[in-house]
Formats: sequence, structure tokens, C-alpha cells
Amino acid sequence: MIIGLDAATWTLIRPWMAEGGMPNLAKLMSQGVSGTLQSILPPITPPAWTSFMTGKNPGKHGVFHFIETEADSYAMNYANGGSRRSPTVWKILNDAGLSVGTMNIPFTYPPEALDGFQISGLDTPSANSQFVYPTSLKRELVDRLGKINHDLRFLGNMSTDRRRAQVLAEMEQIDEQWAAIALYLLEHHPQDVMMFVFMSIDTVQHYFWQYMDRNHFLYDSNAAVRFRNAVRQVYERLDSVTGRLVEKLPKDSTIFVVSDHGGGPVVDRTIFLNRYLHHLGLLHYRKEESAGRRGRFGMRKIKLKILQGAYAFLRSSLSSRQKSLLAEIFPALRKRAELAYTSFVDIDWNRTKAFCSEVLASPPNIWINLKGIKPRGIVEPAEYDALTDFIIEKLRELKDPRTGKPIIARIYRRDQLFRGPFSKEAADLIVDWWSEDSLFSTAPSLAKDRDKPSVVICEHRPAEDSVWGGTHRLDGILVASGPVLKRGAQIQNARLIDFAPTLLHLFNLPIPEDMDGRVLTDAFRPEFLSAHPVKAGAAAGVSEGDRSSGYTDEESAKVEERLQALGYLE
Ligand SMILES: [Zn+2]
Repeated sequence: MIIGLDAATWTLIRPWMAEGGMPNLAKLMSQGVSGTLQSILPPITPPAWTSFMTGKNPGKHGVFHFIETEADSYAMNYANGGSRRSPTVWKILNDAGLSVGTMNIPFTYPPEALDGFQISGLDTPSANSQFVYPTSLKRELVDRLGKINHDLRFLGNMSTDRRRAQVLAEMEQIDEQWAAIALYLLEHHPQDVMMFVFMSIDTVQHYFWQYMDRNHFLYDSNAAVRFRNAVRQVYERLDSVTGRLVEKLPKDSTIFVVSDHGGGPVVDRTIFLNRYLHHLGLLHYRKEESAGRRGRFGMRKIKLKILQGAYAFLRSSLSSRQKSLLAEIFPALRKRAELAYTSFVDIDWNRTKAFCSEVLASPPNIWINLKGIKPRGIVEPAEYDALTDFIIEKLRELKDPRTGKPIIARIYRRDQLFRGPFSKEAADLIVDWWSEDSLFSTAPSLAKDRDKPSVVICEHRPAEDSVWGGTHRLDGILVASGPVLKRGAQIQNARLIDFAPTLLHLFNLPIPEDMDGRVLTDAFRPEFLSAHPVKAGAAAGVSEGDRSSGYTDEESAKVEERLQALGYLE
């Protein structure tokens, strides 16, 4: 059994354990092995869990982000599990004759037709969609346990303590729902391999970190009285769920507890990347209208303003069902409004060499407006290397205005991070903002603020609404306990992509040669390893993916709403 605790992090767990907290995880640690599980870059949920279940880097499975670019356009679409183009470890286990059941793993929509079952997670478009395989299982679960809910209603709308308390209560309901489903599945549909994921640690860290951290720039001493334990309560609750699940298992079971990345506080320095690219002369906004002239551009601007206003209003005032209905009736309008709502709309593509997909809260990727790739690309392929070198050099020059020290420690070209047939779908440059020496936030650069500084230090004050107080870090957790694993040992240098090969080795199966991860041999007892040496097998290869599962406009609206509530969309 694998328990996934999205975003669980040792920096919180260790001190709590030292005080006697998280007893069930502590017990598994003492009976088994534990260590840091290094995520992939970028350490965000979609590529992280996809790398976890394929054992491969994103260049080989094709999931880089919540969004993917559309060919021949600047548009970005929402990705889902259908974008994955590599076989999962679940399918490989099935092919070896083992049954598999998974619940709530992000980026498993549409669900795979597994020998066993699959219940999709975060990318599930709506409660009405076919997010459970087999379909009969969905009916059964709904009949026995009630409607399955993926969403918190008021996450994006926490302006009062009452609302914050309501969100925490809902989070508990959703955890209890998934716990009840997991317990039911263990009892009535046991499989050889089962995985259950819980998302609420990620959510509570994003929105409640600031209340437990006195040094946080959003610390609010009044609200802290009520919410300083919010994050810990979620960890303790999921620890007790872990205990309940472990209790149900046969005694000789192997148990893994993993997270896809860690978490940590958001910092007070914000970089406006498109604004910086503008200052460097690499990104241009459409020309400001001169005072005396009122041309088509002026009208266009007014129209956009109205659209933006209307869109913002619709987003905040309509129920999700009404919005879905509207999106269904006016898909074209919605697309335009969506574009208008992003900072992309004011960019003059004919004069822009590089831009950032900063409409999303993460990650800060930079794209080159390359001729032959982008519809209005102006950068000649021969210019590419010099241009990316220049951007890297200039990004390193960005300094914290208080200390004068560089902010960005590492910037990667995509071929440094990604290897495989889909690498070219990634952004050109990936900026590391998850490591302790390279922490910053980003925000959309509006055209009207083009002349303001590129680095801004946020005011230290209590947040008035839903804002991120926490974000991701590279280091996740790994705890594993079972009859062939060592007892009470620490393992070093474990990576998220090592999980799939390690799971295969547990069943003495060969490791596909195209997996980037390796078997965590340090976790196994020596006698098991000598009886079962690691075997290399044929490449798992690429799979078709299921792009037919691209969302309908209605589903897209629903997914967007969820991402927005989670804070991934501005
Ligand atoms: Zn995650």
C-alpha cells in the first residue's frame, strides 16, 4: 500500500514527531526506512506525480505543468492525465499479473482501464465525468458512501476568520470522505497494489502557513490565535488515517508513505519577470495610445477593459454551474475573456523575443518567441543560444534591494532538465525558485506598470484575503516498511523517479531500461538483494496518451475554477 501525502515535508514533521506527534508515521519509520525524496524540477503536482508513476523525467512523459502550449498559438490549455505519453508503473504491474487500485492520484484523468480500479484526482473535471474505472465502482461508491467531492468551495474567498474556519472544516470533510473510500476499497476491493492520495496538506500549507510562522511577512497575530495549528491538525489527521489504513492490512504487507514535493513559506520578494524582460528590451507591450488619437486601438482597449471587468465579475458572482452553462453557450467569448484576463493580451508579439507564462502562479518559465515555432516568432534559430545566454546572465543580476545579493541561484535550459521525445514541449528556460537560496514570488506584469521596478519587496502585513503563505520545496518525504525492507534505517539520495523502479523490484520484476530512476537498493535487506539482484528489462517506451480526453469548454471551466481556487491561476 502506498499512501501519498501531497506536499508533506520533513521540516514540519520532524519537530512535531520529537514532541510525540504523528505517532503512526513514527512507528512506520522505526519499523522501516525513511529519508528525503527529492522531487523533480519543477516540483509541482502534475509533473511530480507523473514522474513518480512512470519513473521518468518529464521529457519522456510529456507532462510539464498544469498547462500545455497549443501548437502555432500563444494559447495555453489545461493539461490532464491524457497528456501523459508513457506507460505507468500500474500498467506494468498489471502486465506482470498483479492487480492495482489507485485513488485520487493527481493527473490520472481519464482513468486507466486497470486490472483493479482507478479513481482520478485533481484533474477530474466534474462529479458527472467518468472519473472512476470501472464505471460500476463509481455507482457502488456513490450508493454506499455518497457523492464524491474533489473541491473546497470557499478556498479562493477567505476574507474573514469565519470563512477560513469553514474552509478548514471542509478540508476535514474531504479527508474523511477519501479515508472512508480508501477503507471501503481495502475491505471490499483489495488489490495486490493499492495507492491512496490525500491533497489537504498541500492546500493547508499554501493558505495557512503564515499563521504558524512568526517571521512570515503575512503573519497575523490576531488570526494566529485561531489558526496557528491549522497545518499541524491536517498532518495529525492524516497520520491517524494512515494508522487506520495500516491496521486493515495483512501483517506481511509493505507500506510506503510518500510526498511529491515538500513545502515552505512564501517569501516577501516578488519578481515581475515580464516587466524585467521589458526593461531588458526583450518584451514589448503594444504602444500606448497618444492623447489626441482615438483609433481602433483605443476602442479595443475599452472593449478589453469591459471584458476583463465582466469576466472578473462573472468569476466571483456566479455559481459554478451557472459559469459552466455560460462557458458552454459562449466558448469563444470565454476564450477571449480568458486571454484578456491574462497579462498576455498587452504583449506586442511582433517585437517580443522572450516572455514568461506568468499568468500562472508557478512556475516562472521563460519562452523564446522563436521563428517557425511561435505564430509571430521573431527570434532566428541562429540567435537562440546567444539570447538564452543573455537572459540567464541578466536573471542572475537581479538583486534583493535590501541586501544587494542575487536572488536567482539557478536557471536551467530545458535540455539540462529534460531528456526524451517530448522535451521540446517544455519552456526554454526554467528558473529554480524552490531552493532555500533562491526563493521569490512572481506576479503578473501589467502593461500600465511597465516602468515600475522588476523586484518589489512586499509590505509586511496580515493578508486580507486568500493568498498563498506557503509554496513548494524540492524535498518530499519517503517512509517505507515491509518484510524485505531494512528496519530503522535512513536512506540517502532517494528521488521521486526512483519510486517506480523500486516498486517493481519489490515484486522481483525487471526495470524498464528507459526509466530514469533507479532501485533504492539501500532500502532492502541484504539477503533479499542477494537472492533477487536488480534486473534490467525492455524499455517501457512511449504510449499514445489520450488527448481525446481534452476537456470540453464546460470541463475546462470547472478545472480552471479549481486551479484558481488552489491559487495556481491569478
Ligand atoms: Zn503536489
